Amino acid sequence: MKIRDIRATTVTVPLHAPLRHANGCHWGRFVRTIVEVEADNGLIGLGEMGGGGESAEAAFRAMKAYLAGHDVARLEEMRFLIANPTASLYNNRTQILAALEFACLDLLGQQWGVPVCDILGGRLRDRIPFASYCFFRYPNPRTGEGEVRTAHQVLANARALKRQFGFATHKMKAGVFPPDYELECYRALAAEFPEDNVRFDPNAVWSTEQAIRFGQAIEGLRNDYLEDPVFGLHGMRRTREKVRVPLATNTVVVNFEQLAANVLHTAVDVILLDTTFWGGIRACVKAAGVCETFQLGVAVHSSGELGIQLATMLHMGAVLPNLSFAADAHYHHLTDDIIEGGLMPYENGAIRVPVGPGLGVRLNREKLGEYAELYKRLGGYAYDQDPARPGWTPTVPNDRWADPKDDRAGTIPY
Ligand SMILES: [Mg+2]
Repeated sequence: MKIRDIRATTVTVPLHAPLRHANGCHWGRFVRTIVEVEADNGLIGLGEMGGGGESAEAAFRAMKAYLAGHDVARLEEMRFLIANPTASLYNNRTQILAALEFACLDLLGQQWGVPVCDILGGRLRDRIPFASYCFFRYPNPRTGEGEVRTAHQVLANARALKRQFGFATHKMKAGVFPPDYELECYRALAAEFPEDNVRFDPNAVWSTEQAIRFGQAIEGLRNDYLEDPVFGLHGMRRTREKVRVPLATNTVVVNFEQLAANVLHTAVDVILLDTTFWGGIRACVKAAGVCETFQLGVAVHSSGELGIQLATMLHMGAVLPNLSFAADAHYHHLTDDIIEGGLMPYENGAIRVPVGPGLGVRLNREKLGEYAELYKRLGGYAYDQDPARPGWTPTVPNDRWADPKDDRAGTIPY
């Protein structure tokens, strides 16, 4: 089976409300590039890529010259063909490779009549549990609903998510407001759900000393881990020396060089594997094998996803023996999806691993067209800008916090 064509379509799918994070904001929608790899037997494999609010269509179009006629099964060859590590100094294509790997695995699964997880070693579990992923949010610009800013709103939102989806793990995305204010919110969250696990992620915007102060203050809670309190392996290592809470990262261990450094001189306990950041599902499975060998924890990271990328996360989660934490997903913040059947359902906080051949998801062409039109109308957005805080440049470490008393939503184009 050979690659005949590569097509890419940029879509925008609305979120229930704009999601605030340490470096900016998701402006009430996700922009994703949907990739279709067509084989010479007519089968179509699906891939997906983010891109910080921007389209990646042109990058995929350029790959057709490399990959037309390439054997779909030769995935390692494809890695060196388009993402050779030294050539990549000039053209970083790790995320492009990831989306094309998803599509090729989808094609192979369809051709062989097996789900992708069977190609990766076979499933160890049928359902992947997820965390609630609570964000601070601006109100929805159209309805005025959905703001999360006060501790009261944090709890109301988490309760609603637990009621609707059944989550038993709560992740608080933070790094937006002063750390002492966020500590108060996090303690309230942990106290609200004493049986549930909690985790906290300020997106690496604190100083090491601030990370130590916060980390020590949350010892004794049911923490899965403290995620990226500080940027850099040395800062994480200094924090880890003084804090008795496991540290996790999706930031400073995102490739094999960094994983080797972390094995030799451990700075992080739990590696959050992202099928996009690492360059594919197979790279994540390899990394999980290294983590298993050295007894580091692993979990599933979310960099924002529609159903295709979610399927890659589910198939990966299904095959990792050392997956001992609930996965992260932004998925329940979406209002819709571009796959057949619409949004995949949660059952008791978990999502079933697809059982159909390949990734087990198919495109809903009507939805693809609808959200491609929405992208054309709204265009991209700057993931690393906050439209309600013009002129704000967050530093690392940061001290330019938002004011938790400021209830102005600003103008967010929608
Ligand atoms: Mg993170």
